Amino acid sequence: MDYDVIIIGAGPGGIFAAYELTKEDKGLKVGVFEAGKKLEERKCPIDGDKIKSCINCASCSIMSGFGGAGAFSDGKYNITNDFGGTLHEYIGKDEAIRLMKYVDDINMSHGGEGTKLYSTANTSIKKLCMQNKLLLLDASVRHLGTDKNYVVLGNLYDELKDKVDFRFRTPVEHIEVIDGGYKVVTADSGFTCSKCVVSVGRSGSKWIETVCKELDIPTESNRVDLGVRVELPAELFSHLTDELYESKIVYRTEKFEDKVRTFCMNPRGSVVNENTNGIVTVNGHSFEDPEKQTDKTNFALLVSKHFSEPFKDSNGYGESIARLSNMLGGGVIVQRFGDLIRGRRTNYKRLSDSFVTPTLKAEPGDLSLVLPKRILDGIIEMIYALDKIAPGTANDDTLLYGVEVKFYNMQVKLDEHLETKYKGLYMIGDGSGVTHSLSHASASGVFVARDIMRSAEGL
Ligand SMILES: Cc1cc2nc3c(=O)[nH]c(=O)nc-3n(C[C@H](O)[C@H](O)[C@H](O)COP(=O)(O)OP(=O)(O)OC[C@H]3O[C@@H](n4cnc5c(N)ncnc54)[C@H](O)[C@@H]3O)c2cc1C
Repeated sequence: MDYDVIIIGAGPGGIFAAYELTKEDKGLKVGVFEAGKKLEERKCPIDGDKIKSCINCASCSIMSGFGGAGAFSDGKYNITNDFGGTLHEYIGKDEAIRLMKYVDDINMSHGGEGTKLYSTANTSIKKLCMQNKLLLLDASVRHLGTDKNYVVLGNLYDELKDKVDFRFRTPVEHIEVIDGGYKVVTADSGFTCSKCVVSVGRSGSKWIETVCKELDIPTESNRVDLGVRVELPAELFSHLTDELYESKIVYRTEKFEDKVRTFCMNPRGSVVNENTNGIVTVNGHSFEDPEKQTDKTNFALLVSKHFSEPFKDSNGYGESIARLSNMLGGGVIVQRFGDLIRGRRTNYKRLSDSFVTPTLKAEPGDLSLVLPKRILDGIIEMIYALDKIAPGTANDDTLLYGVEVKFYNMQVKLDEHLETKYKGLYMIGDGSGVTHSLSHASASGVFVARDIMRSAEGL
């Protein structure tokens, strides 16, 4: 075999798998195949000046390369089983939390020391939420910030680069089952291994679907989350963000009894573009360094859409809606809440008169032409509910960017080892559908590395 273990994808799942496999020198030959670039070569060409919007690079530096989709993220590591994935359903709740804490320790010893760990325990905000028909989910959250997150990734790479064979700009095309292991096929070569860990994240969602079809691995998919990113003056949410940093709040709408939730809260942060398979959607992040912070807070409001038979393509549904916003606005659309309520588009004049200036250059427009009524109604209801715990949320000048889509990779059928029906072929992280977050994806990497080492005598 060329390698004992090949890891496909160098996002948090792949990195932590590689870290754990090589932490102690067990003599394992580990290769990491990554479609994107090295960390220091990752650069999104959008400079707001010459290049103002996404030009669909062959390899998106925001989503791909060392660090994966998380490299320029806000670096919020949520230590909880309540959201961020369903890892605990495979490995148990206690083990999942133990591994998330272990990942936190590694981050702390690789440049993250001094960052704050926030917690919802003993907070009066929980009661305030309950009094207003809102549910605050329990979690501890480590906020590394975009800047420290980058430092941690750089330090992890420095530690790994001499122990692991990294192959960047090397997208894997196929995985073949061979005698005693697997053949990982790239554009111009093929590499054999005894064990293979697939950790390709959201950007690899289409590819992993093909792999599962080729290898007849069962999958299912029925969920997509759709909504907007809200941006408002940081002071309006400071009583929540100063204490909790990120509050995951759920609201059940009166009209349809749909659940709407806050997602990815970025105090004093910026709204950014995200490119998934050529479709431009919206996301957000913020820096740990106060000098790089803004005076705005942003967060997503998402409605989960679950489909029942016979419809199977939930991601296709989300993509179509995101495409519609791209068609109308050339990318992301921004609208003032007041304009949405009055049933009119936001134009440049109304946006420039607004007291809240956007942190992302997006096209002013009308989100009601893009989002389905049921989803938009849910979002509006939730904004009014949030206005009760954070007065000012429903102000006319609150900005809504759309669309934010949270694509869920189809769920790969895995056993309690995160192994497919093929012994030694593991699928982890967001690509497997098991996780949707940095902490869960990283923990899944540590978990399979330990599983592989337990069976190392079989290599
Ligand atoms: C802007 C942004 C902000 C975010 N902020 C947060 C946050 O604050 N907190 C949080 O918990 N989560 C956040 N997330 C989500 C988080 O980044 C992901 O949950 C996490 O990165 C998943 O890790 P992963 O290893 O499973 O996959 P990824 O990080 O997506 O990494 C997968 C890697 O596989 C590579 N790949 C794909 N296909 C192939 C192939 N065929 N061959 C070789 N390589 C391939 C990709 O190039 C990529 O580098 C954010 C995401 C974005 C985009």
